[in-house]
Amino acid sequence: MDTITRIKTITPSPYPLTAILADTHDTKTFRFNLPADATLDMLPGDHLYVHATIDGKSVKRPYTPSSLPGTAGFFDLTVKRYETGVISKYLHAQRVGDTVLMSGPRQGGHWVDGMAKKVGFVAGGTGITPMISIIRWILTKRLDAEQFLVFANKSEADIIFRDEWERDVRAHPNFHCYHVLEEPPVGWSEGTGRITADILRRHLPPPGPATVLFLCGPPPMTNALEEILRGLGYPEKSVILP
Ligand SMILES: Cc1cc2nc3c(=O)[nH]c(=O)nc-3n(C[C@H](O)[C@H](O)[C@H](O)COP(=O)(O)OP(=O)(O)OC[C@H]3O[C@@H](n4cnc5c(N)ncnc54)[C@H](O)[C@@H]3O)c2cc1C
Repeated sequence: MDTITRIKTITPSPYPLTAILADTHDTKTFRFNLPADATLDMLPGDHLYVHATIDGKSVKRPYTPSSLPGTAGFFDLTVKRYETGVISKYLHAQRVGDTVLMSGPRQGGHWVDGMAKKVGFVAGGTGITPMISIIRWILTKRLDAEQFLVFANKSEADIIFRDEWERDVRAHPNFHCYHVLEEPPVGWSEGTGRITADILRRHLPPPGPATVLFLCGPPPMTNALEEILRGLGYPEKSVILP
């Protein structure tokens, strides 16, 4: 019998912050408490809304939990801080013991088991966040799906969860990762500059009935890449924007 409570709320509810883990110079993972027998009612890639009142104004922004869906007792949000950002700055100012208001989860462009045997991920910066839980899910559940991550960042220091991707490449023959850096260090052997059609052709699974792609990043990047992907023959319905 399933004794796990699956949590989904329409109105904002308070979640206590229990740990803060530094990921990169501007990105942290915030761990929030759930009852020991409760999990978020979500598929990999779905998001929550963080709510706050800032300067007398109610604001909310979506965030995709990075923890493995189905985890009981806690969930994680991995958030990049923008100097001029409202909610990202608010979250980074929180301390362990504070509570944060959140509603959801809400459905986004999520992963559904069996939807594909070949899964490409094209991420720019924090665009990786909806993909973290999907990649973890597919690997942890040992699903029959080969994964191909193409991850663009400004510099090496900006790569979120780099150690995890390197560990996954070593541990799982069905996980591939290719980094693209705008400002590569000396001796860098992977992609440089922006993601191009040629990089996508070489590092994503080819279009076909068994292939889906997740694409997430700054809007100028996703707009440009949607067009490039169409030119490479990926049908529109096979490209998911979480
Ligand atoms: C479905 C969904 C899930 C998301 N999940 C996550 C997540 O898990 N982790 C995460 O960190 N973010 C995530 N985001 C982005 C997040 O919702 C906010 O947009 C982001 O945190 C900025 O909010 P803010 O209030 O701090 O900045 P805002 O006040 O909205 O923006 C202020 C300024 O910040 C800068 N800025 C904001 N966003 C960006 C950007 N994407 N690229 C470049 N500059 C930007 C700009 O200079 C902008 O003018 C997600 C977005 C969506 C749509």
